[in-house]
Amino acid sequence: MTIHSHIRSQDVERAARQRLHERGVSIKDVAEVVFKMQAPYNDTLTMEDCIESVDRVLEKREIQHAILVGVELDVLAEKGLLSEPLQSLIAQDEGLFGVDETIALGAALGYGSIAVTTYGHLDKQKVGVIEKLDTKEGERCHTFLDDIVGSIAANASSRIAHRHRDIQDGMSDEDIVLRDEEDRL
Ligand SMILES: [Mg+2]
Repeated sequence: MTIHSHIRSQDVERAARQRLHERGVSIKDVAEVVFKMQAPYNDTLTMEDCIESVDRVLEKREIQHAILVGVELDVLAEKGLLSEPLQSLIAQDEGLFGVDETIALGAALGYGSIAVTTYGHLDKQKVGVIEKLDTKEGERCHTFLDDIVGSIAANASSRIAHRHRDIQDGMSDEDIVLRDEEDRL
């Protein structure tokens, strides 16, 4: 199959954000997890900081791609459209199936060790919207989405931790913005 067409980054970002929205996850939901993760280390942290951080993380292509792949598989499993045994592995969120975690962890690597360790914590201690997604009741399949939301929250947490230090160190606003732009690649 060789189809060559230009895929605009803006379209990918819009689709990824739309997918999260369709699956019932808002930026505020993820920001609440970020707040819980970072408030112990940051006295001045506000929900606005966390919302902004999640929004910035959603500008990252690696995150957008993880959302698109993960949600697609969840939705196909919900509709029973995957072939066996993958259909059952994903639909049942089988205990030893770890590709959901692998994708989410991979998407957390761009924001350094705080993102990785926070992701690991959220994988074990389901917090806020992640806990809601993790419950296996109902029609919906969230095998991939719970981990991807954990990854977004972990990245946004790490971004806040590093920016907090930059601000404490007296870094200029322009340098902080510049560093943020680099992080977003
Ligand atoms: Mg999962």
